[in-house]
Amino acid sequence: MPERLTKCPLCKSGHFLNHIEITDYAVSKSSFVLCRCSECQLVFTNPRPTSEEIGPYYDFPEYYSHQDQSKNLTQWIYQRVRNYSISKKVELIEQFVEEGKLLDYGCGTGEFLYEASINLWKVVGIEPNEKARIQANKKLGGKVIASIDDLKKDSLFDVITLFHVLEHIHDLRKTVKKILTHLKSGGYLIIAIPNHESWDGKHYGKFWAGWDVPRHLYHFNSKTMDRFKDEFDLNLTEIKPMVFDSFYVSLLSEKYKNPNSSIFSNYVQAVKNGLKSNQEANSPGNYSSNIYIFQKK
Ligand SMILES: [Zn+2]
Repeated sequence: MPERLTKCPLCKSGHFLNHIEITDYAVSKSSFVLCRCSECQLVFTNPRPTSEEIGPYYDFPEYYSHQDQSKNLTQWIYQRVRNYSISKKVELIEQFVEEGKLLDYGCGTGEFLYEASINLWKVVGIEPNEKARIQANKKLGGKVIASIDDLKKDSLFDVITLFHVLEHIHDLRKTVKKILTHLKSGGYLIIAIPNHESWDGKHYGKFWAGWDVPRHLYHFNSKTMDRFKDEFDLNLTEIKPMVFDSFYVSLLSEKYKNPNSSIFSNYVQAVKNGLKSNQEANSPGNYSSNIYIFQKK
């Protein structure tokens, strides 16, 4: 049975309204209602599959972030961009801390942690998906665990990263609180999330691939992230854009919007709209995906 939330999963307000209905184009073709909190503007799927029920919705061959081998052009491009992004992610964390202990929550197959470990970071990963975790542990010699509850109580990290992970976590408040007990005072919490209020989000509307229901349980805007900062008593250090995400999200959105058009036309539109989205973004926080860098007080 799907669970029906009676409170906003971020600010606990009981004031929220139905906002939009979105179809899961990638897997189940089922539709889901998304509510919007009147208090913090969080958009969240409600009702939603429970954490026990959600497994099958992740079970499709094109769930790229858990796969290492590329099979078609889209996947090949995704892999190239991902490899580039991985070294960019290491550069990003090193802007704030030169080296130290890194926890990647939702590490997938572990490429980022592997790159960080080459750069002398002491790394630990958390990955609930068993297949991805096994692959990650082959690269990382068993440094990846299934749950945050498997961490030693006194393990502390200089940097904790969640790259496109926060929107997947069922028990949002409890999990963030647990994560923060493992962050050193003055340490950095780095969170990358899609932005439904970006130009591409508005352009594609119901077909926007960033909705990714029911796998994405939440959608945040800059006001919601401000509330996030206050709820968990953090300082916001900086917001950085992820400029490649607009292209990838546009490509998937084109496929959902025009299932019968040619691959070539989808690519042309995706490049055009990806560029347009980045141009229209102008300031940090308005891009298709953004990285929020918080510091623990
Ligand atoms: Zn709220």
